[in-house]
Amino acid sequence: MSRFKLQVTVEMMEGWHVGGGKGASGNIGYILRDYHGSPYVPGSQWKGVMRSLIRQVSGEKCSGSSDCECMVCRLFGAPGNRRGTVRFSDLKVDQSASTFQKTPIFIRAGVRIDPYCNVVADGALYLKEAVARAQLKGEIAGFLAKPDQDLPALLNGLRRMEALGGGKGQGMGGIAGIKVELSMEWRPEWGDRAWRYD
Ligand SMILES: [Zn+2]
Repeated sequence: MSRFKLQVTVEMMEGWHVGGGKGASGNIGYILRDYHGSPYVPGSQWKGVMRSLIRQVSGEKCSGSSDCECMVCRLFGAPGNRRGTVRFSDLKVDQSASTFQKTPIFIRAGVRIDPYCNVVADGALYLKEAVARAQLKGEIAGFLAKPDQDLPALLNGLRRMEALGGGKGQGMGGIAGIKVELSMEWRPEWGDRAWRYD
């Protein structure tokens, strides 16, 4: 077992949207805001994206049962309240970055096209809050039972992460870049394998 922490900086492209559902006024899709009023990505959502990416790359069979030992169940938890070894913080606008004071939120209007008939669908006009380009910070931390497999998988998942939040098809939610810093507790008996992840 080794304790680790990945400090992750995600540069979101202009126009990202992590929704809090429809607003009371009808057709506006509002973004989630934290208690400062800043947009953010909940840890649960980030975790969900990483979970499916790592499932794709691991190639391991998952039994879907509560005692499954596959990598995804080990890291992310399994059905029946079995907790994973890794937790994800919220991704928040970096308050130290110069972008913090000016992270404008704007409204995007669009029209939904019915994909079958290729015509404008009923009730098709939508309004959606969207956020300007911003730097988000968060961390992935916990324990790794098999660091030489689990750590490369987590880094690989981060590298494959292309979008957060809905609407990449509408050109929203894309990721411009990701930076990762790793800190890890290490003991000599583990050897140096855990460090070779590049
Ligand atoms: Zn499994």
